[in-house]
Formats: sequence, structure tokens, C-alpha cells
Amino acid sequence: MKAITFAGFRDVEYTSVDDPRIEQPLDAIVRVAAAGICGSDLHPYHEREEGLDFGAVMGHEFVGEVVEVGPEVAKIKVGDHVYCPFTTNCGECYYCRAGLTSRCERGQLFGWVGMGEGLQGGQAEAVRVPLADSTLAVVPEGVTREQALLLGDVAATGYFCAEQAGIHPEGLYAVIGCGPVGIMAILGARHLGAEMVYAVDTVPERLELARLAGAVPIDFRSEDPVLALHEAAEGRGADAVMEAVGSFESHRSAIELVRPGGTVSSVGVHTETEFAFTPAEAYDKNLTYRVGRCPARAYMERLAPFVRDGELAIDGVISHRFPLEQGPEAYRLFDEKRDQCTKVLLTP
Ligand SMILES: [Zn+2]
Ligand SMILES: [Zn+2]
Repeated sequence: MKAITFAGFRDVEYTSVDDPRIEQPLDAIVRVAAAGICGSDLHPYHEREEGLDFGAVMGHEFVGEVVEVGPEVAKIKVGDHVYCPFTTNCGECYYCRAGLTSRCERGQLFGWVGMGEGLQGGQAEAVRVPLADSTLAVVPEGVTREQALLLGDVAATGYFCAEQAGIHPEGLYAVIGCGPVGIMAILGARHLGAEMVYAVDTVPERLELARLAGAVPIDFRSEDPVLALHEAAEGRGADAVMEAVGSFESHRSAIELVRPGGTVSSVGVHTETEFAFTPAEAYDKNLTYRVGRCPARAYMERLAPFVRDGELAIDGVISHRFPLEQGPEAYRLFDEKRDQCTKVLLTP
């Protein structure tokens, strides 16, 4: 089959790889209908994150149709149109039962193969899904496949970010980074009742998406977000800051924007080895810091009815769709944020 594979620094290839096949009794094979390129795919692309094998199939966001199941798969059936979180889940361990499915004891991240071990990704014609019954879910009636794809990662992650921020209607909030996850955090915060959400970025079309999502955009090239937030909050700062980038700078901004006693909720994938703020700064702010990988499996089915009913209008973040063979060009476009690119889907 054809797939987009990792080829080194700022390089992916459209190439032929082995067809996925059933390896374990609980595996399913999904024929991919659409696959997303995610901001976190850019970490290995820029070698900020090391250890991904050359030739590994990229991507952890996909939807499609089940074409084959292993002998122990009981719930998921051939012909099901399914969506999927970005990690596999056993559904039985302590973490799965507690709803922290992103830390499943048997969980594996799609699109990460290091030293020959791991799971191939979804930017391909087909993908092997282990633990299929507890990882996959059937796309509900009234939810489009593109919405379902977003629910498997960025929509869930953004909503999780907002929930971790402890939203209440009277609060004042900031979102740092208006990529797809940041936009989803704004939508999530609004859905949870937030009336005042400020959105910080520098890219005009992303700030426009933030405005459409219900936030007050702040372009930090022309406006100081710290001044703007402090002005809006009687000199205090934001009750919570939702950080959706995962860089040193975005963390630095978060600690400067949050008020004493406030929360920084961080879902940007981190590759740094040091904190951008000191223990003393955290102490002096009585800071609550919440961070980590979204348990997307626990969120996607819970959020699907909101998406179906139009309460969470998530489709707007998709800016481009390319056939799979144009994957390398799609990566460049997404990486360079050209042509007002926010979210790219590849269709095999
Ligand atoms: Zn993703
Ligand atoms: Zn588990």
C-alpha cells in the first residue's frame, strides 16, 4: 500500500510500504478514509523529538472503514465506519477505568515506531489497530467523518484543556496559540460557560478563527497580552490560561498572564527538558499547573453529541484537503503556515 513515511529532517515521503495485517487476536485493519496532519507530527519533522525510525508511517489522526478483524474482536465489525483516539486503549486497566485512557498500561501511540518497535501511523491507505474493541468506536449517526477525525484528537484535546482550566461563567481566560487545538479550547471554554476568553497568536487567519469561535483576539506582535489581560481583569491577570503550543515561550507567556491563585492548563506537546518558570514563580503565584496528554478515548464519545447537535462547531479548523500522494507538499504547507493553513487532511 501507499503511505506517508518519515524520511528525516523536514522530510516525509509518499512511498510503498507493507500492507498492515492482523498480528494479534484483538487487531483490526482499518481502510483509511481521511488522515490528519497534526502539530505534533511536526516535532519529529523538525527533529525536536528524536527516535522515530526512518520509514515509519506518520500520523495518529484517522477515520475509516474496518476491513478485517482478528478472531477475538467482538464488538467492532467489518464494514463499521470508525473513529479512533491517537493511542490504543485496553479498556480494562486502572487508567482506562479511571478515564485516563491516554495512560493505558497497554496504550501505544499511532505513528511512532522506534528501533522497530511501536505502531505504524494512519497517514496511509490502511492501518492496524490493536485492542480494536476498546480503541475504536463507530462514528455516530449525524457526525461527519471529518468531525469524527477531529474528535479523535484535536477536539478532545482542546476540550480537555478547557476542562482542566476549571471554567466558570464569570471568569476571565486566555488561550495561547490559536492552532486547531487552541481553537478547540476556545470552543470548549465557551461551551463550558466562559464569557470572556482572550486568544493570543500572531497569525491573522488563526486570530480570525479565534474571533469566530467566540474569543477576543490579541495579536502579540502589535499588542501586549499581559497589559491587555491585566487591564481586563482589574490588574490581576487571567483566572486560567490554556496553553496549546508546547514551547518555552508559550509557557513563559502563560505564567505571566495567569493571576495569583490561577491555573495554567497545558496540552501543547512538550519537547523541552526545563520549565519556563521557576518553582519560586509558581509559589509566588499559588499556581495550579495541569498538564498532559488528553485521554481522547474517554472524551470523543462524550463530545460527539455536542458536535452532532451543533453545540461545538469544530469543522471550521480544517483549511486544506489533499490526496495522500501530495502528503509531502501538505506537510510543507502546514509547517510553513502558508495559504492560511490551519489543519490539513489527507485522503487516500
Ligand atoms: Zn494530533
Ligand atoms: Zn488500559
